[in-house]
Amino acid sequence: MNELFIYNTEARKKERFIPIDPKNVRMYVCGVTVYGNAHIGNARPYTAFDILFRLLRHRYGEDHVTYARNITDIDDKIMQRATDEGVGIKAISRRYAKIFQADIAELGSLVPTLEPKATDHLPEMIKMMRTLIEKGHAYEAEGHVMFDVTSMSNYGRLSRHSRDELVAGARVDVAPYKRDAADFVLWKPSSKDQVGWGSPWGRGRPGWHLECSCMIEKHLGVEIDIHAGGQDLIFPHHENEIAQSECAHGHNFVRYWMHNGYLTVDGVKMSKSLGNFHTIREVLDQHGGEATRLSLLTAHYRQPVDFSHDNATEQKRRLDRWYRLTDGIEASDTVPETVIDALSDDLNTPMAIAALDALASPKTAADLKAGANFMGFLMQSNESWFRGEVPEGVSTEAIEAMIQARNQARLNKDFAESDRIRDSLLEQGIVLEDSADGTIWRRAD
Ligand SMILES: [Zn+2]
Repeated sequence: MNELFIYNTEARKKERFIPIDPKNVRMYVCGVTVYGNAHIGNARPYTAFDILFRLLRHRYGEDHVTYARNITDIDDKIMQRATDEGVGIKAISRRYAKIFQADIAELGSLVPTLEPKATDHLPEMIKMMRTLIEKGHAYEAEGHVMFDVTSMSNYGRLSRHSRDELVAGARVDVAPYKRDAADFVLWKPSSKDQVGWGSPWGRGRPGWHLECSCMIEKHLGVEIDIHAGGQDLIFPHHENEIAQSECAHGHNFVRYWMHNGYLTVDGVKMSKSLGNFHTIREVLDQHGGEATRLSLLTAHYRQPVDFSHDNATEQKRRLDRWYRLTDGIEASDTVPETVIDALSDDLNTPMAIAALDALASPKTAADLKAGANFMGFLMQSNESWFRGEVPEGVSTEAIEAMIQARNQARLNKDFAESDRIRDSLLEQGIVLEDSADGTIWRRAD
C-alpha cells in the first residue's frame, strides 16, 4: 500500500500524511447549520470526506479513527425561522438535523463517530473565552466578547489574506466597540425576546467560530490531524478557529487542512433566483443515493464539480452495468490496490472510479464489488436496484435464464434459436449487449 498524500491548504501543497497517533487518528468536518433543507452543494464535503474517513479506517483500523462532524444548532437563521413559525429553536434544529442525517445516510456516507451539537457546549465556550481574555487575546465590549486579531502575530496565515481582505471579511460585524476593524465576535448579547445563555459578560449567545474550536477541544483534543470543510470556510471561519484554539492553548491546532471546491448546477452557480437550486432531497428522489454519490465523486474534491441531471443519469447507467456484472457474486476479501492507491493520492476519486471501470468484467467482478463497496457503491441487492427497471411481467430471473439458454444455443451454433431469444427479450423491452466478456442486459430506452 502506497503512502497517503493529502493536499494541505495551509502549506499549499500535497504532503505525506503522518498521524499524530496512529492508534487514534482524529478528523473534524464542519457540519451544517440546521435551519432549512440542505442543498446539493452541502452534500459535497460529506461525501468527499466520507471517502477520507473510509480510507483512514482502512489504513489505521476501524477502531483507530475518530471522525467528528458537528451540528450548529444556534444561529440567527435558526432563531429567525423559529420566530416565523412561532416555535422554539430546538423544534427547528431537531427537525432539520434529522432531515440532514437521513439525506447524508441515503447518499451512502458512514455515520461519523461523533456528532456534537453546539448548544451542548456552552460551559466549554465560556471557559475558552475566559482563557482568551486572561491571555490578552480577547476583550469585553458592550456585552460582546471580541477576539483581538492584533494579539496574534500570524493571524491570517491559512487564507494568506492581506490586511485589507481581513478587514473586508470582518466588515459584516462593523461596530464602534471594535478595537480593530478585523476583530471578530466570540459572544454577542441577546435581547429579552432572543434565545440566550447566562455568561460573565451578560446574557447572550456564541459566535459561530467559537463553537467549532470548543467542540474540537472537548472531543478530539488540543491538536488534531485533519480539519476539513468547503473552501468557502477558509476565511473567516477556519482562520478564526485557528486564532481561538491556538491562542487559548498555546499549541498548534491542526496538522492538515483540507477544503473541497464549489458545486455548480448545469455549469452555473446555484441560486434560488436562477431556478437551479436543488435540495439534497429533490436530487435523491430523482436519482437515488448511489447515482447522486457517484456524480458528486466524478470530479476531484478540490476541483469544481458540475451537477447535472445528464451526469447523474450517466452515473446511473454506469452503476446499472456494475450491478449486472456483480449479480450473485461475492465481493473479494480485499479492496483492489488500484482503488486504494488512487484514493491515497489526495482522494483521487476520478482515478478510483476509472479503476473500478477497469475491473468491470466478469473475470474481475468480485474485485469490482469489493472496490465499489469500499467507496459506498453496490450496497443494494440487484433485485432492489433494478426494481422499476424491469418491465412489468418480466423477472430478472427469467431474463437471466433466457440469456443462459441463448448462450447454450450459440455454443450449439443454433443461431436461429439464439436470435429468437434475443428478439423475444427485445419485445419485452430488454436489450442484450454482447462483448468478449459475456452478455449483459439493460432496459430498452
Ligand atoms: Zn467549523
